[in-house]
Amino acid sequence: MNNEFFQVSEKVASAADEALKKIQPCFAKTDEITEYNQQKVLSAFIKNGVSEAMFAESTGYGYGDRGRDVIDKVAADIFCAEDALVRHNFTCGTHTLAVALFGMLRPGDTMLCVTGLPYDTIHSVIGIDGKGDGSLADYGVTYKQVDLKNEKPDYDEIAKRVKEEQPKLVYIQRSRGYSLRPSLSCEEIAKIIEIVKANSNADVMVDNCYGEFTQKIEPTQVGADIIAGSLIKNAGGGIAKTGGYVAGRADLVEKISYRLTTPGLGREVGATLGHSRELFMGLFFAPHTVGEAIKSARFAAALFEEFGFGTTPKSTDDRFDIVQSVLLRNEENLIAFCQGMQKGAPIDSFVTPEPWDMPGYDSKVIMSAGAFTGGASIELSADAPLREPFAVYMQGGLNFHSAKVGIMLAAEEMAKRGLI
Ligand SMILES: *Cc1c(COP(=O)(O)O)cnc(C)c1O
Repeated sequence: MNNEFFQVSEKVASAADEALKKIQPCFAKTDEITEYNQQKVLSAFIKNGVSEAMFAESTGYGYGDRGRDVIDKVAADIFCAEDALVRHNFTCGTHTLAVALFGMLRPGDTMLCVTGLPYDTIHSVIGIDGKGDGSLADYGVTYKQVDLKNEKPDYDEIAKRVKEEQPKLVYIQRSRGYSLRPSLSCEEIAKIIEIVKANSNADVMVDNCYGEFTQKIEPTQVGADIIAGSLIKNAGGGIAKTGGYVAGRADLVEKISYRLTTPGLGREVGATLGHSRELFMGLFFAPHTVGEAIKSARFAAALFEEFGFGTTPKSTDDRFDIVQSVLLRNEENLIAFCQGMQKGAPIDSFVTPEPWDMPGYDSKVIMSAGAFTGGASIELSADAPLREPFAVYMQGGLNFHSAKVGIMLAAEEMAKRGLI
């Protein structure tokens, strides 16, 4: 990329050339998935007759808001689900997951997570380790867990525990989150669901954060009863300013709508305040944006593999989420990486990220984020909890060409400090 705009050392430039060569064949596969999903999304827009009039804002109660009602139908079609809720009122992914869980679970129920310890911010929602005022635990919901075995779902143990516990809800996290285990493919999720359904009447919920549009199918197409995710990740396409979605069985979506607003009113209320256009547009862009994020993740993996770092997934592995972890081995590397990446951000390129005590996380975290939407991790961003195994988790990139710059500047910063 050395030109009149950006310059890096010969070392980083030549490693980037090698990296690009290595992953070029994978790009065709990503394009094929993007094209399929883009057509899936476009056909849902056409089928539901999305029109400009639906972008009109409602205020107050928001009764009869056409845009709000139709985007739910569009999302339901995209996810091949009976029903969906797409709302700017979901404040983030954690909130969306929490609303779904509180909507479906009642005192005395058991929730069984079968993919090991869930994402950090969900701990307070569930009440793991006694944390969380007003957690599910406070309301008498029992939490149980089946750990991963060699970082993969332990199918035999899942069968045994589901049979024993007869949980109301089985919870699956598709993405790796802040851990090094591989993300789950829809094929693996299908296998878990088959086991759960053979041994119980449990409803299956999938935390689909970071997973949307990475494959041609979604968890709802392999039997998940409910999926949920954030609109400032994949499903918002980098356009939605805030929000979340749930999709799945109609009876469960209805229960969740009663928790989102209030029993009896559910989805009938909720002013869209002018957000509808961006939610539609974001959903429309999502397959393409996810494709760009996956290309960016592969490039980052390939570049740091050139410098001898471990990566998960590997640059040429199949991908079921947009997260890329690079094992940078120590704190110095993590800090240089994040501070370097920040220099390539379109927004706030001039700030220097520092480690901080982020709410909901157990250790200090350093983050690189220079986004149009605050904290949007569909935009190029990196998070590194300063704890073993000193891995940086990076994700996003609204387009590959700009993300490539940020990733190369991360490497360049490490080179400048003599770390690579
Ligand atoms: C991001 C994420 C969440 C939480 O979403 P926020 O928008 O950060 O609240 C939950 N689960 C997984 C797997 C995630 O990646």
